[in-house]
Formats: sequence, structure tokens, C-alpha cells
Amino acid sequence: MGGTEQKYVAEAFETNWIVPLGPLVNEFEHRLEKFLGTDHVVALSAGTAAVHLALVMLGVGKGDEVICQSFTFSASANPIRYCGAEPVFVDSESQTWNMDPEVLETAIKERKRITGKYPKAIIPVYLYGMPAKIDEIMAVAAKYGIPVVEDSAEALGSDYKGKKCGTFGKYGVLSFNGNKLITTSGGGALVCPSAEAAERVKFFATQARENRPYYYHEHIGYNYRLSNVSAGIGCGQMEVIEDHLARRREIHGLYVRALSGIDGIEVHDNPSPDFNSNFWLTTITLDPEVISTTPDELRLALDANNIESRLLWRPMHIQPVYSDSPYYGGTVAEDLFARGLCLPSGSSLSDADIARVVETILSSVKRR
Ligand SMILES: *Cc1c(COP(=O)(O)O)cnc(C)c1O
Repeated sequence: MGGTEQKYVAEAFETNWIVPLGPLVNEFEHRLEKFLGTDHVVALSAGTAAVHLALVMLGVGKGDEVICQSFTFSASANPIRYCGAEPVFVDSESQTWNMDPEVLETAIKERKRITGKYPKAIIPVYLYGMPAKIDEIMAVAAKYGIPVVEDSAEALGSDYKGKKCGTFGKYGVLSFNGNKLITTSGGGALVCPSAEAAERVKFFATQARENRPYYYHEHIGYNYRLSNVSAGIGCGQMEVIEDHLARRREIHGLYVRALSGIDGIEVHDNPSPDFNSNFWLTTITLDPEVISTTPDELRLALDANNIESRLLWRPMHIQPVYSDSPYYGGTVAEDLFARGLCLPSGSSLSDADIARVVETILSSVKRR
């Protein structure tokens, strides 16, 4: 928290705007729009709700397929099933760890050949804040006329060639869950392509109530709008977002400097100046030919020193719940999952904290 959040929450109480919607929701949306350099942002109750409503807007339903990056958190893919549709998972490329544009095209052609129709949407993800090869992904999507829903939940503030992540696709998903760059305790947003689309998203997010004096419904609706109280926290967070962003990048820089000379440890970094990650989390991979310690052994060694770390996301195509879903690609994501670890990266960590993490890593890894 930056300090002003409570002021806005108090404002919600003083004005008695405790219900969903209210002036702070509009204000939070305006601040997000200004930050992203875009229009038509709709604040929602979660990033997962944003993915779901994007698919609802695109008319995804029973019998449809949606292509999704396999290397991600389950919330990128689960809304496909909420819609009664089937996910088709695609592997990552090793530079950004995100959707491989070549595998994407193969998957599109194969699904057309097998099912007779094109997938209804494409969901690339910006894992740990790293932009994907979004120009290439957008080009493939345009070639087949398939809309893109960017899962930018982890990448608020990241940019590709100077343009903010979340503003490339037809829809862009943001999350303000407790662990993300900024938080509203729980919340999300959908970046929409037009004012009409944004109005329609708000309609679906507030139970799809038609404009009549009584409750009248022609569509299935959802209760997905952000509350005015949560938006108050969001308004305060937008005043410190640049500080959070700068500190995440600084922390990544500290890890890079401390670990770059170490044989067998690689800190995941921007592959070229086109990519500008927010470094929501700094991640490393261990080379098993040099280091015999596995990522999970390193995680336990850190844990024994009261340092929390996490394994990378386990790809969706090797999750039991998605074992029947089609998968295209090789073993890039699986290999990263086997070799990688997320390091402590919170904006409030001190330089001394990072030094202690680095020391513990160096004293814990065993060399072959
Ligand atoms: C956090 C996250 C989400 C979901 O956001 P919530 O606000 O937690 O619902 C979706 N996709 C990815 C990649 C995420 O990390």
C-alpha cells in the first residue's frame, strides 16, 4: 500500500458509495486508461472475470475451440470451459517463454483441418510480466481473422516497442489480485475495443439487465463488476504504480548483477530492447548439466532460511484437468517448468533482502 488508499476508501464510506459501482470505479478506470494510453477500460471483480467476459463478448460457446498458451496460470484457460468451449494449448518459444507464433499458426491450420472451422479466439499470456512476440502473434491472428485476448494479468506496466501490454489485442485482461503489481485486494479489468463494447461488457458484468422498469433478461448475465470500495484502493495504488514498477525493475537488475557471472544459473531477461518487462517476478533457470540441485531442492533450501520462492507455472497441457485437450508444440514449457524458479520480487524488498536471497542461493546450489 502506498498510503493514500485509505483516503479513497474513507471517501467511499463518507459518501455512502459502498455498493458496486460509484464514482471511484469511474475514477479508477480513468487512471488505468491514462496509464495504458488507451480508452474503454472496464473495472471488474477479477482478472478471471475479465478473461471470461472477453470470451462472452466474442461469442465463444459450446462446440467452439479457443487457443491458449499452455505455459500459464489456470485462470487463463478455465473461462474457456466456463463457456462450454474446448481449449487448444500451444507451447512457448524459449526467448520470452510466451506463445510461439509458429506453433500458433500450425495449431490454427490443424484445427481447421480436423474440425472444419477456425478457433474462436487466441489467448497469449505475458508470463511473469514479459511481453510476448506480440507483433508476430497479431500477424498470424489477422491472417486467419481470429481475435486476440491478451492475458496481461501479470504484465501491467510492461511494454513492447513502447506500447503497453494489454492494448494490442481486441481485448486486454488485467488483474489486481493481492499478488500482482498493484492490488485492489481482489479485482481485474478488461481493456475493450470501443465505447459500445465497454458498455456491453458492463451490461454482462451487472446481470445482463435490460433497460425496462422491471427485471427483464434476454441474456445470461454475471455479477462481475468491481465494488466502489475496492476501486478506492485501486485509485490509491495508481498513485504508487510507477514506484512499484521502478522497484520491480531495480530488483531484477540486482539479481542480474549478482547472478549473471554464475555458471549454471540464468536470470530470465528481456530478449531485446523491444521487450520491456515489468519484472513482476524475477525468475531463474538452472542448467542441470552444471548444477545438480533441482529447483524444488533450491526452493526448500530457501524456505529453510525463511525465504519464499515458487516453482514456475506447471503447463496446462500436463494438468490432469486438461489431459484431454489438444496440444501443439514441443517441450519448451515443460523444460522451463523443470528448470525454473520464481524469486522473491515484491516491491517492498530492500537491497539487503535481495543480497540475502542471492547468498542463500549461492550457498545452496551444488555443482556437478
Ligand atoms: C492472476 C492471473 C489471472 C487471474 O487474475 P485474478 O484477478 O486472480 O482472477 C489470469 N491470468 C494470469 C496469467 C494470472 O497470473
